[in-house]
Amino acid sequence: MARIQCEVVTAERVVFQDEVDMVLAPGTGGQLGILPHHAPLMTALTFGELVIQRAGQEDEFIAIGGGFMEVGPHHVTILADSAERAEDIDEERAEAARRRAEELMAQKQQDDAELARAEAALRRSIARLKVARRRRTSSSRGLGQGHPPGAAR
Ligand code: ATP
Repeated sequence: MARIQCEVVTAERVVFQDEVDMVLAPGTGGQLGILPHHAPLMTALTFGELVIQRAGQEDEFIAIGGGFMEVGPHHVTILADSAERAEDIDEERAEAARRRAEELMAQKQQDDAELARAEAALRRSIARLKVARRRRTSSSRGLGQGHPPGAAR
């Protein structure tokens, strides 16, 4: 069966690299599902959750802090501003970042740039928290085990 070579990289490191069956990515216009033989595509990604599916294996969840995705018939390359696999996320740190960002956003004297930075930090931390929580709920589930791809679980 055809598969996709998937690579997720940041400026700092390669976060994920493997042959996969399906990728669900947080596009700026909504969730994008990528299967083998997808038409060529270049698109921006927003803050959110990247889901990677491989037959016979548990789904992989990665928190994405925006970036770009390039798709060809046999590959998906994601250049992310930030990316962390579920198992690498420090939930307390993300929770602290979320609180800090909310406090900053509540302050009245923020200029537009500070507000935009705080909003980005908030969305980044929310994506990390969502993905970190997958660790607890995704045990023993993979492709073909009865849930629709990307469905809330
Ligand atoms: P924080 O406010 O918690 O530092 P941030 O988004 O500002 O969050 P950066 O300082 O830009 O974080 O990130 C430095 C490195 O730490 C990056 O490699 C990033 O992927 C990683 N990182 C950030 N937050 C977390 C987290 N909660 N768990 C694991 N890695 C994280």
